[in-house]
Amino acid sequence: MRGGRRSGKVYLVGAGPGDVELLTLKAVRALGEADVIVLDELVNREVLRFAPSDARVIEVGKRGGCRSTPQSFIERLMVRMAKTGATVARVKGGDPFMFGRGGEEMAALVANGIEVEVVSGVTAGVGVPATLGIPLTHRGLCNGATFLTGHTRDGREPDWSALARSGTTLVIYMGVAALHDIVRNLLQAGMPAATPAAAIQNGTLPSQRSVVVTLGRLAQAVRDAGLGSPAILVVGAVVNLARKPALAEEIHSTAVQATVA
Ligand code: SAH
Repeated sequence: MRGGRRSGKVYLVGAGPGDVELLTLKAVRALGEADVIVLDELVNREVLRFAPSDARVIEVGKRGGCRSTPQSFIERLMVRMAKTGATVARVKGGDPFMFGRGGEEMAALVANGIEVEVVSGVTAGVGVPATLGIPLTHRGLCNGATFLTGHTRDGREPDWSALARSGTTLVIYMGVAALHDIVRNLLQAGMPAATPAAAIQNGTLPSQRSVVVTLGRLAQAVRDAGLGSPAILVVGAVVNLARKPALAEEIHSTAVQATVA
């Protein structure tokens, strides 16, 4: 194995939201050391340019609703590879510990005596709003930011009224499919319909598209624009700081005069 390593190792690598320039130097090094690369669906294939040309590439993962590689299979595969002495780079979109099952994979690997190193990445919830110039925190506008998933099929609904009252920017991952419900829940919980809100699809990539509107109009705007997954939703006064998108193909709703309380 590369470098004559006898016992293998797994790097849990965050590849950032898409733009390869958002890879960290550590991610590039881990890719360069890898004998085996286990790639998630959302990862930009351009990252493979940092991998040795003879590295084995295994594609796993899923896109909303499609058949996915079972998590247990991925974990067993990595354990088996590492036990043969291979250096494995398990590459995930964004950050491996943000809605990425990184914790589960780390636990499974450690339970099998495999050395694991986590390589943090730029999570979509931070890197994607930044492309529109939306700061997640801004003095005087919010008390912080809350990251949540819009995918609550396991029945664990968030406390919407606590979120609506939190005074934090809401950053919602995997929210497009349930967008209608998310908006309804926030409005019912007392969040003003005039609260600025944005949806950004394929953030940091040339195919990026976005809408910047208000909470009350978000679902319709996303539908009209035909935005789909993967997208980040941002709800809160900071969205008013969004710049006009630089890319001509982006959709930017005009009549937004959301008042910031
Ligand atoms: N670990 C990843 C998140 C995985 S969950 C991270 O830290 O970013 C997948 C969700 O991430 C998608 O449904 C979407 O909400 C978000 N996402 C990932 N890449 C994105 C991108 N380029 N643009 C917008 N949203 C993205």
